[in-house]
Amino acid sequence: MNLKQKRMAVLVFIIIALALGSFSVFNLVKGRLNNVEPQIEDPSIVEPPVVEPPETEDPDLPSQEEPDEDPPIEIDECFLLGLWPLILVNQDNPLPLSYEPIAMSSVDGYYELDAEIVPITQEMIAEAYGQGIHLRLVSAFRDSGLQSYLYNAEVEYFIGQGYDQEEAEVEAAKWVALPGQSEHQTGLAADIVSYDWLAAGKGLTVDFAEDPAAIWLKTNAHNFGFILRYPEDKTDITGISFEPWHYRYVGKEAAKIIYEYDWCLEEFFEHCK
Ligand SMILES: [Zn+2]
Repeated sequence: MNLKQKRMAVLVFIIIALALGSFSVFNLVKGRLNNVEPQIEDPSIVEPPVVEPPETEDPDLPSQEEPDEDPPIEIDECFLLGLWPLILVNQDNPLPLSYEPIAMSSVDGYYELDAEIVPITQEMIAEAYGQGIHLRLVSAFRDSGLQSYLYNAEVEYFIGQGYDQEEAEVEAAKWVALPGQSEHQTGLAADIVSYDWLAAGKGLTVDFAEDPAAIWLKTNAHNFGFILRYPEDKTDITGISFEPWHYRYVGKEAAKIIYEYDWCLEEFFEHCK
């Protein structure tokens, strides 16, 4: 090693020594600062204990959770939109006039529904009966021919009330769907009241909403896959007047979501987009 190399080695040694020295000093200062920190903390500043807020809800009232803005809907259910039984029938989504369920069978010896939903409908009727509510179907499957007859009769009724033809057609459509636009053609909808209601000589009027049978249906039908299809506060969306007797089968999963979020069927479809 010549002199130049020795000088270089010494220089490198000094640089390394200085670097190590400053690192140690830095750590020392840092460590001291860390050690000092607790001592300069104001001992009067103490983390307050966590106190549970007092229960403000009335314990007599059931807790009412606000639905989320963006509710969680199972993707499977959205995927099934448009497929049986999650089909949407309204003024904008009519059925072909020739549409009929693949198979139908009678619920009670009088009225027919899609054969697939007859057992669950009978189960619902039996459950209500066990609780003192004697449900009675007054309409179920209707083909487009019968729907046409009912719609025309409704138009005639409003003409008899003094409406002109065009006005009568608009009014009638609020109560009786045009052929192809009625859920009754799907075989998945039923108009349901009770034997007591009929025995009292009452028909399909909004007063039925206060009847024990209507209250039972509104509270329990979703457990059997049915929804109140035309709620009072959704008429601007459904385009159909409040019908406390009209129930539509959509399947248990969809019915539960629609019930819990207080939607109509159109809103369910909208949220699944
Ligand atoms: Zn109906």
